[in-house]
Amino acid sequence: MIIDNVRIFDGERMLGRGSVEFADGVITRVMAEPAPRASASSSTAASAEVIDGAGMTLLPGLIDAHTHVFGAESNLEMALAFGVTTELDMFMGPPDATRALCTAAGERADLADLRSAGLLASAPGGHPGVTMPDLPTVAGPAQADAFVAARQAEGAHFIKIMVEDGAHHGMSLPALDRATVTALAEAARRRGLLTVAHVAALWSARLALDSGVDMLTHLPLEAALDDAFVSRTAEEKRAVIPTLVMLEMSTPKTSRSAHTGRSLADDPQIADHLPEHARTAIAEGHEGLCIEPDSPGQHFTHALSSVLSLHRAGVPVLAGTDANYRPDRACPVVHGASLHAELALLVAAGLTPAEALTAATSAPAAHFGLADRGVIAPGRRADLVLVQGDPTKDIRRTRSIEAIWRGGVRFDRAAYGERAAAS
Ligand SMILES: [Zn+2]
Repeated sequence: MIIDNVRIFDGERMLGRGSVEFADGVITRVMAEPAPRASASSSTAASAEVIDGAGMTLLPGLIDAHTHVFGAESNLEMALAFGVTTELDMFMGPPDATRALCTAAGERADLADLRSAGLLASAPGGHPGVTMPDLPTVAGPAQADAFVAARQAEGAHFIKIMVEDGAHHGMSLPALDRATVTALAEAARRRGLLTVAHVAALWSARLALDSGVDMLTHLPLEAALDDAFVSRTAEEKRAVIPTLVMLEMSTPKTSRSAHTGRSLADDPQIADHLPEHARTAIAEGHEGLCIEPDSPGQHFTHALSSVLSLHRAGVPVLAGTDANYRPDRACPVVHGASLHAELALLVAAGLTPAEALTAATSAPAAHFGLADRGVIAPGRRADLVLVQGDPTKDIRRTRSIEAIWRGGVRFDRAAYGERAAAS
């Protein structure tokens, strides 16, 4: 397959117009200028199909660095239908089912590929174990290594750590303390696993940074991160997955148009490919996982300010949605589609569109050790998204999807749209 005469955003920068060739699921050639007319017949790929990409941009397949699949294949299919070729799941059980779904997602071309934390680390009686009695917990530093070893044995790709006292759910619950989070981070590092800490308040963000976790996810809404915190995050080479779309959906809405996330339901480029239930969930669903709406003093603008400070200080910002949707629960942050809102919100925070695209392609690949994807270069997986227009000028162009390839196999987006319309 050759995509010719197309703008190429390689995951870090716009190469300009050129051609990209792939075979057997792998990118074989990237030429930063349109292929000469004769070359198609003289090259080794004489019989290759050629797509004229005039007016279009080719992107690496998008990576959503924070999702919850809840065991639903349909979520991974919905993700792929919006150009998300890889999801990083931050909490799913039971372990056998998680491993089976990761295996299936690795083999099937009609699903987004999947990596998962499996079961997360939390305090006994804390969030979310208080409503999940079977969830293993960590009672103190002495239990940290055994907890990490058990997750590794179950096939977890990284370790998710819940630093949360339930305040956002109107509760006061025990939370993991600094010594325990430190022990978890050290155990994971010894075992070659990354740690990602859920932090939705200033105290938990500080605790996570003090404990040496590799990545922070979510951001406080009660205030923006201060300069000292931001500098330390940069110096200590941590990365942040803000999940702006979830935070935005969690704060009070003044009108539907004021919410970038909710407005997905009114965008025909998105809505035409969504099942009815997902469309209704975006427009009317209640985001209840992390932060209750209408909490006093919680302002989404604080998260936007923090993102810009972190980015300016050189902290890698990774695009993640915290997609929580499942067909039996009307959470408005749906898989795939919501990443396009996250990209728009990263731009609203102050990233350039190209920087936002990097946050959803090469940056998560680099920081999660996915060396085979996230970049358009020879030898990388042919995870590709072809869109109309130039999303490095207008980030909303990521929604005008023309074609999606996962591992070189084209996703039948028209058929998906028809099934969605019939649902
Ligand atoms: Zn989450």
